[in-house]
Amino acid sequence: MNKPLDAYRAKRDFSKTPEPAGKPRKGKAGNAYVIQKHAARRMHYDFRLELNGVLKSWAVPEGPSLIPGKKRLAVHVEDHPLEYGGFEGVIPEREYGAGTVMVWDRGTWTPEFDPEHGYKKGHLKFTLQGEKQEAWLLFKSDDDAARPEGAPDILEEMPRSAVTGRAMEEIAREQDRVW
Ligand code: MN
Repeated sequence: MNKPLDAYRAKRDFSKTPEPAGKPRKGKAGNAYVIQKHAARRMHYDFRLELNGVLKSWAVPEGPSLIPGKKRLAVHVEDHPLEYGGFEGVIPEREYGAGTVMVWDRGTWTPEFDPEHGYKKGHLKFTLQGEKQEAWLLFKSDDDAARPEGAPDILEEMPRSAVTGRAMEEIAREQDRVW
């Protein structure tokens, strides 16, 4: 696995899945982020940050939280192509990650310090400019968007797609994809 998206491609058969094959965009200095809700064998949220022409990716079983100091396990997974940030649809049965994918939130991110160095060290701190999130780390920092423990859960309060406004069941039923 030498090229940026080798691991991503090796897991998928693009004649069967509607996910994008994509390509790495070396030298493209964008700052997109996306959070995708993914009803795979286990429901989880995929958190992705654009860095060096790909989407650096983590699977977060419990999803993001606005409660300060709330720690969320985030499992580092393979880099995804930038095109993946627009993917909402259904990965077919028996394919890798089979299940419904929703673009739960998206926007841009601003690192608080050198992101390449931080990524290598496993410590990224940043601000998100999205539709639902404002600031997040793998644990949430205390800011204006912060909520006290016991406050309504952002995941329950705003469960719908940031792109299409659909619920998970609607995406699954419609079996289409949105780019
Ligand atoms: Mn996933």
